Amino acid sequence: MMKQWRATILAIIFSAVFSGALNAHAAATGSTDFKETGKKLVKFHSALENVAARRKMTNRTFCDQTDAIERRILSDYGAIFVVAEAVLPPPVCVFKTASEVNQFQKTLKTAAEEISGAKIELQEAAMRSLLAAREEAWLENLDITPRAGAEAGRRSYEDTLRLWNSRFFPALKYWQTRGSLTVEDADAIFKLPMRQQIATVLEWEAQGMFFSSNFSKSILYSVAAPGTSQHLALLAFDVNEHDNERVREILARHGWFRTVRNDAPHFTFLGLPEEDLPAHGLQKISAFNGEFWIPNL
Ligand SMILES: [Zn+2]
Repeated sequence: MMKQWRATILAIIFSAVFSGALNAHAAATGSTDFKETGKKLVKFHSALENVAARRKMTNRTFCDQTDAIERRILSDYGAIFVVAEAVLPPPVCVFKTASEVNQFQKTLKTAAEEISGAKIELQEAAMRSLLAAREEAWLENLDITPRAGAEAGRRSYEDTLRLWNSRFFPALKYWQTRGSLTVEDADAIFKLPMRQQIATVLEWEAQGMFFSSNFSKSILYSVAAPGTSQHLALLAFDVNEHDNERVREILARHGWFRTVRNDAPHFTFLGLPEEDLPAHGLQKISAFNGEFWIPNL
């Protein structure tokens, strides 16, 4: 009896000391307990600094925190920066030119495969995991196929510009017919350098003038701003079967997760087990169309 009591008291003391140490550690690293899974939920900026240090990057945060566009890109698309060691994240938040993108893409180990009639190109480890997920899906009579052909995988800077314009121009026309913009407004924003054009679109969206394809949400949930797409890093794949929960589970088991809120077909190769994502600064949110893993900012 005496021994049992002593063991219990020792256990209480040990757990008090241990949890105190954990809390002190959490305060020092900017992390908090992740109640649901018992895993640590690390703040995204701490996770980012860890990645930059591990990869010996001089640019410690990938993005310029004083720039409103870069802050926005980081918060909307930032999950891509905490990917597994097996793949390379983009070195910056916003690629400024086509040649900057080409230069980065040349440093990648890539693989190309014909999938459902489309030539898909991804970073090697991302492709390997996608093919393994497809094989697992077939065992359950499911399929994982590219949405909109080759564009589901690799994209060039020019592709991201063309996609941006496919939303930008119809929205300019729409808001003119609604009387919210004048011909002069439209002409002026069209002539701005790309960076300022993006900034102006985001300012107008903050006032309720949205530029997505149905003018109901931000253009960034519809297409990426030029030079910012995760597809430029060959780590994103758009999936036709995205609304099948089982397909999403299989993709997740192979390191593929949806990381851009409201972009339902878009999966990002993180290459990490799902239970490790909170420790990499990502938090799971539930939307009407399922779950997304987004930066914990
Ligand atoms: Zn996509």
